[in-house]
Amino acid sequence: MRRISIFGATGSIGQSTLDLIRRDKESYDIVALTGGGNIDQLAKDAIEFGADVAVTAYENRLSDLRAALAGSGVHAAAGPHALLEAADREADWIMSAIVGAAGLAPGLHALRHGTTLALANKESLVTAGPLLLGSAQSHGARILPVDSEHSAVFQGLVGEDKSEVERVIITASGGPFRDWSLEQLEGATLEQASQHPSWDMGQRITIDSASMFNKALELIETKEYFGFTPDQIEVLVHPGSYVHALVGFKDGALMAHLGAPDMRHAIGYALHWPERRDLPVARLDLAKVGTLRFEAPDQVRFPALRLAQEVMATGGLSGAVFNAAKEAALDLFIANKIGFLDMARHVERVLTEMSDSVSLAGRSMTLDMVLEADKEARDRVFAGHSN
Ligand code: NDP
Repeated sequence: MRRISIFGATGSIGQSTLDLIRRDKESYDIVALTGGGNIDQLAKDAIEFGADVAVTAYENRLSDLRAALAGSGVHAAAGPHALLEAADREADWIMSAIVGAAGLAPGLHALRHGTTLALANKESLVTAGPLLLGSAQSHGARILPVDSEHSAVFQGLVGEDKSEVERVIITASGGPFRDWSLEQLEGATLEQASQHPSWDMGQRITIDSASMFNKALELIETKEYFGFTPDQIEVLVHPGSYVHALVGFKDGALMAHLGAPDMRHAIGYALHWPERRDLPVARLDLAKVGTLRFEAPDQVRFPALRLAQEVMATGGLSGAVFNAAKEAALDLFIANKIGFLDMARHVERVLTEMSDSVSLAGRSMTLDMVLEADKEARDRVFAGHSN
């Protein structure tokens, strides 16, 4: 039996992971399931899968979780410390699917035990890629990508010599605002930004897809995870979301990964790696798809892509600042306090301010430095907004 923990079990990726596990329950022993405010879902899943422990990130929800788990035998715990304790529990495979930089500390803890970490939480690689990869290396742990584009690149590299790769192209659906003018984008509402044309995802990543901040994070994630140089990594808008990524080799060959837009493919690949197993995803009927359409991305209407290029070139703590400023700006947009394009304006302002005040570039990092940069970036977004 494989021992499995899922961080962010109540979210979109967490639920898709449980969906796969549910189909073959007797092969898995669920160690820990974690969530945030969705106590009912967390307790329901923890009872169904007989988890050893269920953890909510919020201390003030412990009594609710205890009540929901009463008599089930599942241990209830709460708070950031309990999340780390759950990450310390022995497991063979851990899904990292908390949203945002909050996923970083549990991921780092899990790696210390030499586990396999399936990483959906791209923010932790963007924020502290060298720390995460360094920890995996020194503890003999493995990080497997779960983002569909990165899983596609990973699969495209199987059996290949990475030094023969010329370029990597990750695709972007373009989101709901692909054809919108700058003027229209200025007035885009929360409701409009929360609808994705091809992927069914959590609200935050859906809005990040509309602003292309999600693709910006993925560019940085590609650089951090695979170690390609920024000029080797490209984005191509592909509205159908059938081609997830392409790997180009020095002989001119371009290997594409295609599949239905269903995260259970990338999750299942990471779950069963290095094997391939039958997965409950739709098979592409290319005759029905007919045409695959591609467009160059527009860095003027989607400035997040331009900012990501700057962050990749700068390296060091700039990823932590970029991600934290983006998360804080997204909080303000969700609270209807700023407009859609203001998110990128705040991120750019904070990146400029912080690179003027401290050197963000190329410094060796510690977790404390990352957390400090993260906090300062968030504070600056909120302060700049209220000024
Ligand atoms: P969701 O918003 O659907 O779920 C997020 C999960 O994190 C929930 O379990 C939530 O708990 C929990 N959570 C929220 N805040 C905190 C916190 N402060 N501390 C601990 N746990 C918290 O997100 P997704 O599943 O969409 O995304 C998860 C991660 O996967 C993100 O990093 C995203 O970028 C990445 N990803 C997602 C894809 C997708 O298709 N959804 C595709 C590729 C990557 P609760 O709901 O109980 O409050």
